Amino acid sequence: MILTVTMNPAIDTAYQLDKLIVDDVNRVAPKKTAGGKGLNVSRVLCQLGDDVVATGLLGGHMGAYMGSLMDADGINHDFTPIAGETRICLNILHEGNQTELLESGPEISAEELAAFSAKFAELVAKADCVTISGSLPKGVPADFYAGMVAEAAKHNVPVLLDTSGASLDAALEAEVKPTLVKPNLTEINALLGTSYTPEQVTDLAAALKADERFAGIPWVVVSMGAAGSFAFHGDKIYRAVTPPIPAVNATGSGDSTIAGFAHAIAAGADDVTVLKTANTCGKLNAMDPQTGHLVIERWDEVYNAVEVTEL
Ligand code: ADP
Repeated sequence: MILTVTMNPAIDTAYQLDKLIVDDVNRVAPKKTAGGKGLNVSRVLCQLGDDVVATGLLGGHMGAYMGSLMDADGINHDFTPIAGETRICLNILHEGNQTELLESGPEISAEELAAFSAKFAELVAKADCVTISGSLPKGVPADFYAGMVAEAAKHNVPVLLDTSGASLDAALEAEVKPTLVKPNLTEINALLGTSYTPEQVTDLAAALKADERFAGIPWVVVSMGAAGSFAFHGDKIYRAVTPPIPAVNATGSGDSTIAGFAHAIAAGADDVTVLKTANTCGKLNAMDPQTGHLVIERWDEVYNAVEVTEL
């Protein structure tokens, strides 16, 4: 079983408009999805045929609705109830633009967090792999993910951590390291205080190798959108390039990449298979108009065209 963690989920509501008229009425047909990065990971894992359990925090009427959306998607879920309402995020697609209104989400109490930690300890003991995605809600300390990594390590369960900012910093500084981190190029430049481009991948790889904070993390992956990714695994450095098929909607490609890593790592695959699987998932998501959804019928075509080389 692969356990996905979404601490700050959202009901994603998308509105498609020909034109957004400001200061007037716009009539819209909403499309509502169980959202948050970990839910994208869960949906892709379901497409890959994995046994998935989604966990995290859910509250109020919106939380109950979110549960029914996950049921409709066939995602098994076991979330800890909280008093606050699960947030709603609005995504207005208009004239080639994407205007987003993102609620910050509820504040979490110490009791709710303790209840979640107890549930996580129970679920992780049964998992083959854990993915942790996205930001922490208000009231949760920045080192909370680091604590979850340590709990998973007690059971030798690999943890794939996809977060940024203070919660990533805390996980990098902790004694027990995650199995994989996957900052994108923007996130890694923010962390290093640099401005590397995909063309400077060798310099970026050298800077990362020299950075103490990444020492001891088995897989360090930097995803670079259309430019693919590069990854360290132990002493090896790999570059992965995806085929030049036009992207339709790359939102959720990073989450799909994490799903691919979880799928392949849980199956005990070799490095090249792990990287080809992850990059195929990212690319197939970018080719699909839906977020966190693969054009699965083109799997073989893309998988065979993804190139992985050792640098
Ligand atoms: P994030 O969503 O976390 O910012 P990226 O945008 O770097 O992540 O995308 C993750 C992976 O998905 C990339 O490494 C690549 O394999 C694939 N990918 C993303 N966008 C595209 C694109 N436009 N064309 C081809 N592949 C893409």
